[in-house]
Parts: sequence; structure tokens; C-alpha cells
Amino acid sequence: MITTRGLAYQYPNGARLAFPDVDVQQGAVLLISGPSGCGKSTWLALVAALVAPTEGSILVAGQTLDALKSVAADAWRARAIGFLPQKLHLSAALSVYQNLAMAQWAAGQVEEASRIHAALNALGVDDLALRKPGQLSGGQAQRVALARAVLLQPQVILADEPTASLDDEAATDAVGLLLATARAQGSTLVIATHDARVATLIPPEINGQIGFQTLRLLRNQL
Ligand code: ADP
Ligand code: MG
Repeated sequence: MITTRGLAYQYPNGARLAFPDVDVQQGAVLLISGPSGCGKSTWLALVAALVAPTEGSILVAGQTLDALKSVAADAWRARAIGFLPQKLHLSAALSVYQNLAMAQWAAGQVEEASRIHAALNALGVDDLALRKPGQLSGGQAQRVALARAVLLQPQVILADEPTASLDDEAATDAVGLLLATARAQGSTLVIATHDARVATLIPPEINGQIGFQTLRLLRNQL
């Protein structure tokens, strides 16, 4: 499902980051851990085809990403990847409903109200459909962003620091929601975090035999 070989990324004016090889099965959970600055968000950007690797290869959901050009990358990402960014990037000018509709337009699909409401309903926020993001609590906004991420039933869900600045109870909820949503959709789930609590919130056995694996990035790989 996600396979990388010899992956490295050199920022034009910054660090060269080299990453261990991974093989993640469909439906599995991958935890990317390590201190701030070790390359977790960069790894997510590579797997989402937001940036192209400067070395090595990436295969995600049957698609080789190495040479994907921007238009094809955008179209592929809209269908295959559900991204929950650290900053949620909900459009403040649009309603919750419209924020999800935008994900359908981006994927070249027609707006489908029943699907948008079903996704919001699955995360318990359909009653907020007409609100603007500025009228949501942090937890509600994260649920809306997750509903948007999984609206098109992506094969892969990528979550960047989903528990940042959350207290223990909210962090437990956030990880539980990600696991339940990925499981309900059969999606592969990747959580990148420097928060040591997250590993303790993932049960050792998920989806039967497929457990979760950890890719631990270290500062010395820079
Ligand atoms: P993490 O998510 O683990 O905190 P990042 O992937 O954001 O780490 O960053 C990894 C390293 O790459 C850091 O040393 C950071 O300073 C560097 N870096 C990130 N973004 C850029 C950029 N746009 N230009 C140059 N260097 C960057
Ligand atoms: Mg990061």
C-alpha cells in the first residue's frame, strides 16, 4: 500500500532528510514518531505527492509518485489521500458544508449533499453544517477537517500532529476517531507525531492480524 525505497528529500536551502524504507499494508496503521524537526511532516508531504523526492521511490495505492507532475499529482491526491493537516486549513469564508463540497470539486466530482451530510454525521458534526469554521470549538473543527479528509473514502489517511495542544481526554478522542474512521473505511492510517501519548492510545492489535508499526525518525538522520 505504501512502499518507499531509499527515500530522501533535500530542501532547496535546507536540510537533506533521509528516511528508512517502509512497507505498510492496506488497512494498517503506521505511527511516525520522533522529535520536532526530524522530518515527519516532510515524509507526509512526500507520500501525499505534495513534494517530489530528490532520491528514491515511493509507491502509494498502486501509484508511483516519483515523477508525478503537479496536475496529475493534485488529481491523484484528491482521490487517494485524506490529509488531516496540523493547521486544519478550513476556509473561514465558507460554511462547514461548503468546506466539504470543495473537496468534491477538487476531485473533479459533482457536489453530493447526501454524501457530505453522511460524512459529517459519521463524525457527529452534521448539526454544524451551516456554521462557519470560526464558530466551532477546536475539537469540532478537527472533526470537520477529518470528515473532509475522508469524504471521498481515500485509501490512505495522513494525520499530522493530530493531538497537538490537546489535553489527555481530547487527545484520546482524536486518536480514537482516527482509528475508528480508518477502520470503517478500510483506509491505511499514518499518524505523524512527536507526542509520546499517541503510541499508548493505539491498541497493539488492530484489524485482526495487522497491528501498527512505528517508523521512528531520529535527529541524526539529518
Ligand atoms: P517534523 O515534522 O518532524 O517536525 P519537518 O519535516 O517539518 O519535521 O522538518 C524537517 C527538517 O526540514 C527541519 O530541520 C526543518 O527545519 C527543515 N525544513 C522544513 N521545511 C523546510 C523548508 N521549507 N525549507 C528548508 N528547510 C525546511
Ligand atoms: Mg511536523
